[in-house]
Amino acid sequence: MSTSLDDLRTGLEELRRANLEALAKARSVDEVEQTRIATLGRARGGLNDYKAHITALPPADRPAFGALFNTVKQELEQAIASRHAELSASAPAPAAVDLSMPARRQWRGARHPVTIVLAEIEAIFRDLGFTVATGPEAEHEWYNFGALNFPPDHPAMDMHDTLYLERGGLLRTHTSPVQIRTLQSYPPPIRIIAPGNVFRRDFFDASHAPMFAQIEGMAVDEGVSFVDLKATLANFANRFFGETKTRFRPSFFPFTEPSAEMDVACRICNGTGCATCKQTGWVEILGCGMMHPSVLEAAGLDAQRYTGWAFGMGPGRMALQRFGIPDIRIEYDSDISFLEQFAQ
Ligand SMILES: [Zn+2]
Repeated sequence: MSTSLDDLRTGLEELRRANLEALAKARSVDEVEQTRIATLGRARGGLNDYKAHITALPPADRPAFGALFNTVKQELEQAIASRHAELSASAPAPAAVDLSMPARRQWRGARHPVTIVLAEIEAIFRDLGFTVATGPEAEHEWYNFGALNFPPDHPAMDMHDTLYLERGGLLRTHTSPVQIRTLQSYPPPIRIIAPGNVFRRDFFDASHAPMFAQIEGMAVDEGVSFVDLKATLANFANRFFGETKTRFRPSFFPFTEPSAEMDVACRICNGTGCATCKQTGWVEILGCGMMHPSVLEAAGLDAQRYTGWAFGMGPGRMALQRFGIPDIRIEYDSDISFLEQFAQ
């Protein structure tokens, strides 16, 4: 840079002009800040370049140039400050915080109504001294039918319209195979409940589904009688539904003799009759009976010494009753707006 007074004046004037123009064009506080750093900072190309030259000038020229330097510096400082203030004022305000706005809802998972019912049933029977047992969903035909006293041509086989697999395998049509597997593995006394999914080639309608949960129970010991069965299941019904009337109707299953179905007084109409209970005042909740001696023998027990009783029920149907669900297919829909009603 030339050190003559005229050249310095020209350079300084140019610096002022260029920076005032840059400030006028600046569209953001950041751009003003960049100009401030370039002009007033220590980097080359700013006012700092000229400051050093003041002392290098002949003494006669110093006051004039010094005055000009100070004027330009003050002018730029003021211009920067005022442009900064202008742009700060017009900058969009940070997003307003509305303190009265409700917090974002936390997503709460919900247990499926069938899971809720299963857990309650399990808890009640655990209280009564039962333990939980499980078995495979893909079963051997013998465990599903043969050991449970179904002869190969038994008409009950039609009730169980079965999904067969290769080589004598099938998808279990009920949880009763768990009875046989448990009796083969543990000596009496035995009290188990066996929850699990079962599979049937049912039509998928309002009260049937091709796969559904079932829960099975069994008690085997010396001297076990139908009185134990009735007392235990009536006790269960009272705990599950609240104090309720129960009744036992004769029924038929290949694996129990005698067999019965247990009804509870309809929860909807308190036993006076409504559409849900088909005007009978009663709703069937489970099938039960004394275990057939040939079932005990198939599992390797001495049927002269031991007796047992068993029951099976559908938690899906129980959930319909418990929660007033009109159609069992809703239980399979994974519809969030339905399921989240059960969030606790
Ligand atoms: Zn009713």
